[in-house]
Amino acid sequence: MTSREANAIVKARPGRGQLELVCRERRPPRSGEAQLRVGAAGICGTDLEIFLWPEWLAERMSGRLPVVVGHELSGVVEAVGPGVGNVAVGDRVSVESHVSCGSCGNCAAGMAHVCERLTYVGVEHDGGFAEFATLPAYLLRVVPPSIPIEIAAMLEPFGLAVRAAAGAAGSGEGGLRGGSVLVSGCGPIGLMAAAVARARGARRVIVSEKAPRRLAAARRLAGILGIDRVVDTAHDDVVEVVRTMTARRGVDLWIDLAGSRDALRCGVEALVPGGEARLLGTAFDDVPLRLSAVVMKELRLVAVHGRLLFETWDLAVELLASGQVDLAPLVSRVLPLQAYSSAIELLLEGEALKILLVADPAGA
Ligand SMILES: [Zn+2]
Ligand SMILES: [Zn+2]
Repeated sequence: MTSREANAIVKARPGRGQLELVCRERRPPRSGEAQLRVGAAGICGTDLEIFLWPEWLAERMSGRLPVVVGHELSGVVEAVGPGVGNVAVGDRVSVESHVSCGSCGNCAAGMAHVCERLTYVGVEHDGGFAEFATLPAYLLRVVPPSIPIEIAAMLEPFGLAVRAAAGAAGSGEGGLRGGSVLVSGCGPIGLMAAAVARARGARRVIVSEKAPRRLAAARRLAGILGIDRVVDTAHDDVVEVVRTMTARRGVDLWIDLAGSRDALRCGVEALVPGGEARLLGTAFDDVPLRLSAVVMKELRLVAVHGRLLFETWDLAVELLASGQVDLAPLVSRVLPLQAYSSAIELLLEGEALKILLVADPAGA
């Protein structure tokens, strides 16, 4: 390997699996781009989907392969192309994964995270499971030295949790103060959302899950994250637990990461009249929704897909830098890039919560 070459994990061709570690020429940044020496990259549910290769991803990605996978990453700026002003060589940064066009109606209206021509790092664009990554520089956010580089790689999913649990439509600043929150689904983002809800002043934080290993992880971390109650939906009635814990009132905010029929039914039932749902779970099958309950309780259903650029990032960085939320307990393992296939196996088997890949685990 020459000094201009570097390792990367690519989805090489269509089909299940088909991830390969390859050595490629580092791509120098063009105008408006920056090259990062990747510090760490988190494996997300979407990456597992890219491995499993369902129809919707085949449609998105087939024509673009090979693509370097990974959209949750941090690193240090190694080089910048012409016209880059927001970052400089040596900056420690984290990466926004939603690539917007900058010229459509949504981009003009400050809704770039749902750009009309939205594409994603690690899906359509070469991503972060690599030693080096070259990306549009506007996607990079400088992080303060108090946030370790591994934790900085988790700002992308953490931003979803922040938007779900704080400062989104309708809640306003400090809107959770004294309120009760139910989170359906105890994957990394669900647990992060619970921690944010607690940090933002929620009085009761209840989480629910049915997968035994995720339940065990949630119970183990409950004290650290500020979770009052972990409900096993295979054995307990979430709605009843919510009622008992809220003096029969219900929760003010329900955050859904599950996207399942059961979670939807329980969430709508558990919400107080006038309460708000933040929907993040992406079910690709149709799920029934009891509309009469939504209408008659005048519930607000707010979907969250991505981070507000860059208000959510600022709040996410503040929550971590001030120590109000600690994401370190969510990291199950830090593994070298080369161990990507065992990392994916561990995640598919539910043996790990969040795994970070690093190019050189012994290095800085
Ligand atoms: Zn992700
Ligand atoms: Zn756009």
